[in-house]
Amino acid sequence: MTAKEYMEREDRYGAHNYHPLPVVLERGEGVYVWDVEGKRYYDFLSAYSALNQGHRHPRIVEAMKRQLDRLTLTSRAFYNDALGEFEEYAAKLFGYDKLLPMNTGAEAVETALKLARKWAYKVKGIPENQAKIITCENNFHGRTITIVSFSTDPTAYKDYGPFTPGFVTIPYNDIEALERELKDPNVAAFLVEPIQGEAGIIVPDEGYLKKAYELCKAHNVLFIADEVQTGIARTGKLLACDWEGVHPDILILGKAISGGLMPISAVLADDEIMLTIKPGEHGSTFGGNPLAARVAVEALKVVVEENLAENAQKMGEIFRSEMKKLQQKTDIIETVRGKGLLNAVVIRPKNGKTAWDVCLKMAENGVLAKPTHDHIIRFAPPLIINQEQLEDAISRIEKSILAF
Ligand code: PMP
Repeated sequence: MTAKEYMEREDRYGAHNYHPLPVVLERGEGVYVWDVEGKRYYDFLSAYSALNQGHRHPRIVEAMKRQLDRLTLTSRAFYNDALGEFEEYAAKLFGYDKLLPMNTGAEAVETALKLARKWAYKVKGIPENQAKIITCENNFHGRTITIVSFSTDPTAYKDYGPFTPGFVTIPYNDIEALERELKDPNVAAFLVEPIQGEAGIIVPDEGYLKKAYELCKAHNVLFIADEVQTGIARTGKLLACDWEGVHPDILILGKAISGGLMPISAVLADDEIMLTIKPGEHGSTFGGNPLAARVAVEALKVVVEENLAENAQKMGEIFRSEMKKLQQKTDIIETVRGKGLLNAVVIRPKNGKTAWDVCLKMAENGVLAKPTHDHIIRFAPPLIINQEQLEDAISRIEKSILAF
């Protein structure tokens, strides 16, 4: 089949809830993917940061294969010999009493919200059904009805009402707004992305997370960090919250906790919060399956043992510095921003050409990235990228941008 035929088949039989770049991929290894015509690309999207360890990392693939031949799914009706290892390893690594395993990022966010509400009623003593959760403008936490209930992006929420009540929204990176909302004694939690990924890699002011965390503490409100995209070394530290020494009350992880092999997510918290949910009150058929448990442990060990946070930080510095140099040579780049290997280049539309056109040109030159909104391109390669690969990719990006 030709690339065109593959695309036509997806368009014909698949829902149109995505608008993919016109490349058809058939293989991936490390920082590279290949299309059905054999053309090689650098993957600078990394499946929205799910592939921090690179495509098919050999250690993670091996761990998965070993477990595939033993046991894949038990449900939580029984114990299995792998889940405890994942729970213990991750709880110790991130510094929490306990972990609750789920599958997708959105499910983990839902779990965190349920935990916060349970805690509000059982521990904080908020009157029944009165708990409020503070969220930020331009957030992205997933696609469920409850999560889109507090989205401020019409593309995400329009025509999906009626919505779940109990959420208030404040501007991101606005400490005074948070302080005002925290005066309400019925606030249970503050849910925040340490860097807003889908909004276009919006990095808050230095000190924002720390101040927000301290204010939450002062008001007996839970600080919930959604690190689904920023976590697992993406920003140059194991967690983006580590940049400010903040230890969230509830930590949400997803995407790269599996190294991109299967959907795995997790919520971490201490006993006072986690043990408010009793048997039967929350769960998932696949959450915590032994296959996922083995994959997650190996994926996390790879991040730690291969020093991926350090590499992300180093490579990120080079990337931003080269993009800023490029900015001097063209007026099409408005801004360069980011942390570690989570970066954005903001494009100034020129002669009707937008970020989408730049992405098409980059694909032609062997680099895959995707616009987020009309004018922002996210650059987030696997964290295993080395300097030589990065420099080669940068020269391809430069060539593409200078073509406009
Ligand atoms: N939270 C954040 C911060 C995300 O970036 C995403 C996905 N882009 C999600 C949650 C949802 O994850 P999933 O698509 O696995 O449900």
